[in-house]
Amino acid sequence: MNRSIDTNCVQAGYEPKSGEPRVLPIVQSTTYKYETSADMAKLFDFEGEGYFYTRLANPTNDAVAAKITALEGGVAGVLTASGMAATFMAVFNIVSCGDHIVSSNSIYGGTFNLFAVTMKRMGIDVTFVSPDATEEELNAAFRPNTKVMFGESIANPALTVLDIELFAKVAHAHGVPLIIDNTFATPINCRPFQWGADIVVHSTSKYMDGHACALGGAIVDSGRFDWTKYPEKYACLTTPDESYHGIVYTEKFGVEMAYITKLTAQLMRDLGPVAAPHNAFLLNLGLESLHVRIPRHCANALAVAKYLQANEDVAWVQYAGLPGDKYYERAQKYMPNGTCGVISFGLKSGRAGAEKFMAGLKLAAIVTHVADARTCILHPASTTHRQMSDQELLDAGVPGDMMRLSVGIEDVNDIIADIENALACARG
Ligand SMILES: *Cc1c(COP(=O)(O)O)cnc(C)c1O
Repeated sequence: MNRSIDTNCVQAGYEPKSGEPRVLPIVQSTTYKYETSADMAKLFDFEGEGYFYTRLANPTNDAVAAKITALEGGVAGVLTASGMAATFMAVFNIVSCGDHIVSSNSIYGGTFNLFAVTMKRMGIDVTFVSPDATEEELNAAFRPNTKVMFGESIANPALTVLDIELFAKVAHAHGVPLIIDNTFATPINCRPFQWGADIVVHSTSKYMDGHACALGGAIVDSGRFDWTKYPEKYACLTTPDESYHGIVYTEKFGVEMAYITKLTAQLMRDLGPVAAPHNAFLLNLGLESLHVRIPRHCANALAVAKYLQANEDVAWVQYAGLPGDKYYERAQKYMPNGTCGVISFGLKSGRAGAEKFMAGLKLAAIVTHVADARTCILHPASTTHRQMSDQELLDAGVPGDMMRLSVGIEDVNDIIADIENALACARG
């Protein structure tokens, strides 16, 4: 049945039969029992129905992955232990030593390091492009060995909005899939598959969980990228996997299921960053109210952004939901119902003023985390992005005076009163 995304937030992924628990059970078991070895052997051959080891599949995790897959409008998905694990596995599933990726430079700091440092050590090269690059500039970044294009729908923390349709067009012109990190927009506000993206990743630790209680990630495949059109480039999917007794993923599972099946059967088996079933349960509770929380985050953030913009102590405000913002028009196209609850801004008193301002806040807490129910704030240049050089910070759209304010779902008048008080502290 084709239900609305709001209904899917509440109900998708788990349909109990008569007499079964109404609430998704936590299957807190590493292993599963069989009558005979032959029964279990069928599972190893992908022939039987059932579970054999939680690193490869678990009923709680599968139900929550199915819900997120439904929200994104994909065909297959998997949970991971963290957002970083999701991004690494989504990319590494189809790139190897000697390959190349093209990525927006306006991305999460951890992802930047993953591409620029850790994957470089694996012999995988990256070219960073501006999220505002022209089609020509994007084309110029591609090489014959480019296997993946990557970007964030709304970048954390730069809050740039990606031209997903343009990125997808260029990626496809080079026979490469586009992977979008949709963490900040969430599928409530933006569905990257509608704009040509092929694979979506999430840090579910943010809005999806929404309460800052469980780290997690998700990977969803649209099933639309045809690996068999480029059999040499994506030989990992179109030729026998010797580590899995010669299976050819595209033949055995079809183009739609090949990517996620390989990711699970091979990478989850060998790397192991599986989601804990208990965390999947907590994530599912968060997802049940995602469609209610996100509009409130956006309404509160817009009110706060307008307040900051009108305040004479404030040097600049960036929020794509704010008319006049550099990314306002693009956000209207890709996420017309709202962007996210995160705002960045700087004070006329600069980096020193930021420190005083943050110390003056009472309701908003200073935390690393972002995108949960409680209002919180971070100074990226001195914390999450401190590994980056001044030039890298500027290139990534993270200036030294930038504060990242994650507006929660409290009463917006209390949030604004807290900011007003802290602005007075920064002045005095
Ligand atoms: C937090 C975040 C990540 C990393 O996710 P973890 O769950 O912390 O590993 C990746 N991408 C974006 C956009 C994020 O905000």
